[in-house]
Parts: sequence; structure tokens; C-alpha cells
Amino acid sequence: MKEFILKLKEKVLEGKSITFDEALKLTKIDESNIETLNVLFECANEIRKKFAGNKADLCTIVNAKSGKCSEDCKYCAQSAHHNTGVVEYDLLEYDSILQKALEAQNHGAHRFSLVTSGKGIDNDEELEKLAIIYEKLSNDTNLKLCASHGIITYNQAKRLRSAGVSMYHHNVETSSSHYKKICTSHTYEDRIKTIENVKKAGLEVCCGGIIGLDENFEERIKMAFEIKSLGVKSVPVNVLNPIKGTPFESLTVLPPMEILKTIAILRFILPDSYIRYAGGRMALKDKQAIGFMAGVNAALTGNYLTTTGSDAEVDKIMIKDAGLII
Ligand code: SF4
Repeated sequence: MKEFILKLKEKVLEGKSITFDEALKLTKIDESNIETLNVLFECANEIRKKFAGNKADLCTIVNAKSGKCSEDCKYCAQSAHHNTGVVEYDLLEYDSILQKALEAQNHGAHRFSLVTSGKGIDNDEELEKLAIIYEKLSNDTNLKLCASHGIITYNQAKRLRSAGVSMYHHNVETSSSHYKKICTSHTYEDRIKTIENVKKAGLEVCCGGIIGLDENFEERIKMAFEIKSLGVKSVPVNVLNPIKGTPFESLTVLPPMEILKTIAILRFILPDSYIRYAGGRMALKDKQAIGFMAGVNAALTGNYLTTTGSDAEVDKIMIKDAGLII
């Protein structure tokens, strides 16, 4: 297996893409074989250095509108279909959003995103409210602004762009073939359509997924190749944190070595992207630092939507220790 990993690394370093079957073979690495895993991690790190350089990207999100969502995503605490006891509130006032943005800026974040629950932006009134918030944030902070408001139209994407948003976040969440098992109220194609709308409007796209949604390795690798085909350069990797009251509450959290192996393989598939630690990475416990030496070069810091996240200062130490520059 070690020879195979090294050969595959050479192939990527030569600028060639690995195939689906080659990626699938990497998933067969025994997670208890630390020596082989280390070879995989070192190779992923080398690929990251060559194609993505040494810069790390830090972003922060604010859950600007929480709960009461019409959609039935089985992993999500904010769906009105599940009884999770999540705190529910309407769109936050500008002052509290600004306070969170300035905190993020002071902690060294480069990007700041408003995230709202719901299928998409409810109506023109909500779109305008959001646009005004982004316009004010553009004036009052030095942060690059990202937005995450679900399924949106081309015109809505254009309005967000004119308000100062530079990147739109919309995950595929899982592979096209697994999607129906995680959500039935909208389709995988709805998500792809949003990504097309956003690109057409001139926004950059941040698009990743969640691992640990009861998908097999084949589906996980398929998701990675589907993301690659979208040409996105920021790929958040979430790890399912099963939430009580959701249909996925009894799924098992992925073991740390499986998470790290998956991330390293993603780097082989997506050599020049920002591969971003996102929600659920606490599942890595004391092994988070390894990810930054195994392909990860970006992180969502601070708290996540409905779960407690990481300490930005701890992230910065791990990033610097891995030889990345913030
Ligand atoms: S993931 Fe988004 S669309 Fe799905 S239930 Fe949660 S808030 Fe709604």
C-alpha cells in the first residue's frame, strides 16, 4: 500500500488527477496501521504545499436566524420536522451581528458569514434586510463577507453580490446517490442549481459536505469527485455530530483516524482547494492538529450553528505548528 500511495502522490504532483478507483483504493488503508496512515498524511501535506501553498484561511459564522426550517434534513437541529429543542429566533439585529463580526476580526478571521435557517431566502423583504446588513458590514469591518442562505435564485445571488458578499456557501452535503437518504423536501439538483446561480452571479463558491451520514466510502469519494467537478476552491468538511431528536441521533460518530484518512484522500482529489475544518471536528479530540499536517489548510473557527466549536487561539497555534501562515 505504501508504494501505491507514493506513486499516486507523484501522479498528483505531476498535475494529473487521480481516478475514482485509485481514491477508493486509498480508503482501504487500515486505520490501525499508523505507519501507512502517516505516509498518506505526509503525501497529502506535500500535495497541499505544492498546489495550495502555505496560506491558511480562517472564517467565522454567525447563526443569524435559527430554527423553524421547513426542510427535513435528517442531521439538522434546525428542522421543524425534528424535536431538538434548538433555540429559535428570527433574523438578528444589525448591532449584535456587527459585534460578532468585530470579535471575529479581532481574532484574526479573514471571512465572516451570516447563516440563516430555512430552505432559502423567504421573500424580497428578507433579501433586502440581508443586503442592508452586508452593506453595513462592508463599511464597518475589514472582513471578506460570505453568505449562507440556502437555495437561492440568480437574482438573489446578484443582489447579495452588489451588497458586498464575495462568496456564497452552499454544501452538496453528500453524494448525489445518497442525497435522498438524508433529505426528501428538496433535491440534490436544487442544490446544484443554486451553485450554478451563484457562480453566474460572479460569486465565489464554498461547497463541501458532511461525513458520517451513514454513507459508505464509495459515496464519500463520489461526493468528493462531484465537488471537484463543480470547480469550487473552498471545501468545508463537516463531521456528523448526531443531535438528539434528529433521525440521525443514533448514528455513531466517525473515529478520528477515519476522519483524518478521509481528509487526506480529499487532498489527493482536490490538490489546490482550501480544505476547511468545519462543524463536528471536535470528534477528532486531541488529533485535530494532525489534520493541518494531512491536507487541511482552512478552518471555520469559533462556534458552529448549533454546536460549540473551537477556540480561535488554539486553532492558530495548530496552524502555525503545521507550518502554515495565517
Ligand atoms: S440544513 Fe438547512 S435546509 Fe436543511 S433543515 Fe437545516 S436549516 Fe433547513
